[in-house]
Amino acid sequence: MHYSQLIMHHAPGNKGIKVNQAERFVNPEIPDEIAASIRPKALTDFIGHESLKNNLSVFIAGAKSRGEAMDHVLLYGPPGLGKTTLAHIVANELGTNFRATAAPMLTKQGDLAAILTALEPMDVLFIDEIHRLPTAIEEVLYSAMEDFKLDIMLGEGPSAKSVRIDLPPFTLVGATTRTGLLSNPLRDRFGIDLRLTFYSPDDLAKIIMRSARILGTEIDADGARALAKSARGTPRIANRLLKRARDFAIATKSDRITASTIKTTLFQLHIDECGLDEIDREYMSMIVRHYAGGPVGIDNLAAALSEPADTIEDVIEPYLMQLGFIQRTPRGRIITDAGYTHLGLSK
Ligand code: ADP
Repeated sequence: MHYSQLIMHHAPGNKGIKVNQAERFVNPEIPDEIAASIRPKALTDFIGHESLKNNLSVFIAGAKSRGEAMDHVLLYGPPGLGKTTLAHIVANELGTNFRATAAPMLTKQGDLAAILTALEPMDVLFIDEIHRLPTAIEEVLYSAMEDFKLDIMLGEGPSAKSVRIDLPPFTLVGATTRTGLLSNPLRDRFGIDLRLTFYSPDDLAKIIMRSARILGTEIDADGARALAKSARGTPRIANRLLKRARDFAIATKSDRITASTIKTTLFQLHIDECGLDEIDREYMSMIVRHYAGGPVGIDNLAAALSEPADTIEDVIEPYLMQLGFIQRTPRGRIITDAGYTHLGLSK
């Protein structure tokens, strides 16, 4: 069945998307089921991104030999590419504690103050989604990052006073999917900027082989390649697909995962050979049907798809752009020729 038929089949009348983001199999924002056992612990276990790893190992060795906290690190890239994993690895390689929080959990200056004052010297503090920090909290971070000092107001009204507290030296690792949303003063305080991009199918196949070994599942080379091609360049999705393929192998009484197991798995999950699901196809066909292939602005699309613009920009579009199926132009999104071809449509 061609995947344009799947759209018709699963979204009768094209009345909108049936699956929501939280249930979406290929949503890289959904946390992993058994992340801890598969997550690489050392830089040598982290597959791909060779020059990023080389740089990081130099910075880690430098900080260790000087006995100082490593420079603050900003990690950016789409969800599921290994930002949290790298932050853990930095702490492991430095031999320090790993403390983690996420910006949406910090609502008051006191929330951040409590975390900062509990740090031990040289600790790694990981703040996920750092672009979501409220401004008042971000401002507390400036002196903490620059001078290891905490400036905080005690009390309210006329009796309020500002106090300055010394903090231990620490390394902040901030992760973001959107550098564009980071304020300049915050961005400037990171000494190390690392960008994670989508993985090549070869690197993803290696990640799949490694995960299969840890899970005690056999997958042959063709199976790993087929899975890698459909994993949207994203290790989290590759691992998730691997676990489902393992179930399908058991269901068909196979002792290992082959290319044919992957084909069945993808078909059952309504994922096509490029890794696109109904939501991606609905996004593209919406632009074709209602906006003559674009350009269409993100807010119009968000309203038409009933999805937040953030989700569209973070989860749906990056991989479609990577495949060359859509383009973001100053006037809005457009479907490319390759995008039309993938939908089985012509201009
Ligand atoms: P992010 O924080 O960017 O959303 P994570 O660090 O949580 O992504 O990574 C998602 C999953 O993918 C992790 O459980 C990890 O096992 C796996 N993973 C990510 N990058 C790699 C890599 N380079 N090599 C092996 N596994 C990886």
